[in-house]
Amino acid sequence: MGDSISIVTVYPDLLGTYGDGGNAKVLAARLKLRGIAVTSLEVRSSDPLPAGADIYLVGGGEDSPQVEASKILSRTRVLHRAVENGSYVLAVCAGLQIFGEYFVDSEGNDVPGLAILDCRSSKMPGARAVGELLVKTEIDGKEELIVGYENHGSSTQLGPDAKPFSRVVVGVGNSRTAKTDGIRYKNVIATYMHGPVLARNAELADSILRGVFGELPAIADRSLSNLARQLHRERVAAALKSRKAKSVGRATVGLPGRER
Ligand code: GLN
Repeated sequence: MGDSISIVTVYPDLLGTYGDGGNAKVLAARLKLRGIAVTSLEVRSSDPLPAGADIYLVGGGEDSPQVEASKILSRTRVLHRAVENGSYVLAVCAGLQIFGEYFVDSEGNDVPGLAILDCRSSKMPGARAVGELLVKTEIDGKEELIVGYENHGSSTQLGPDAKPFSRVVVGVGNSRTAKTDGIRYKNVIATYMHGPVLARNAELADSILRGVFGELPAIADRSLSNLARQLHRERVAAALKSRKAKSVGRATVGLPGRER
């Protein structure tokens, strides 16, 4: 798509809850800091989705807009071709579910997804998963702790050969039993992590950029991402401690004021 690195935020009018639009801003800012040219487009669902972008970002969404987005994306097949041709994709929550074979609408009916990823999502037994999500995953050969936030009513089952994105340390992720979050396939990372996840985890942002650009010039990390992560860990540790003290057994860490 030209000389600069192209980033496309897919249908922010339908998908983009909990600040997921921030992921594009983080990628663009980290390229600019290094003097690398970037074109970042937000493409609404009424407009054609450009083919052949380097990076596509697909955010979370409420049940009905998610169905609408899946219908349009199934018809155009731009993302199917992009994934096969090696574009990078970060798909968050509803984005993850849309990339699977099917997910459920607000009435509990199965809705076909793009079937790019070997997973399927269905109504999660028990309470909605709302709260902090901490996972461990390998990034460029190193195990990293990634921190984020989850809010979803469905759980996701992976096929036997599918590769999860990460192992859950705190939170729910794909399901209360699997203890994994998300899925990786080719250059697609799909996860339940909002945050926006790339603002909270600069190494994940840089690993996507490295995949597209190659070795990146070093930058002093002036983004507040390390501080944000440290605060996040402290909050979760404090919540876990008080949970232990009260002996309240819950899968998702309860932080004050987290119920919505
Ligand atoms: N509607 C989906 C669910 O509740 C996705 C929610 C989201 O993207 N945060 O499971």
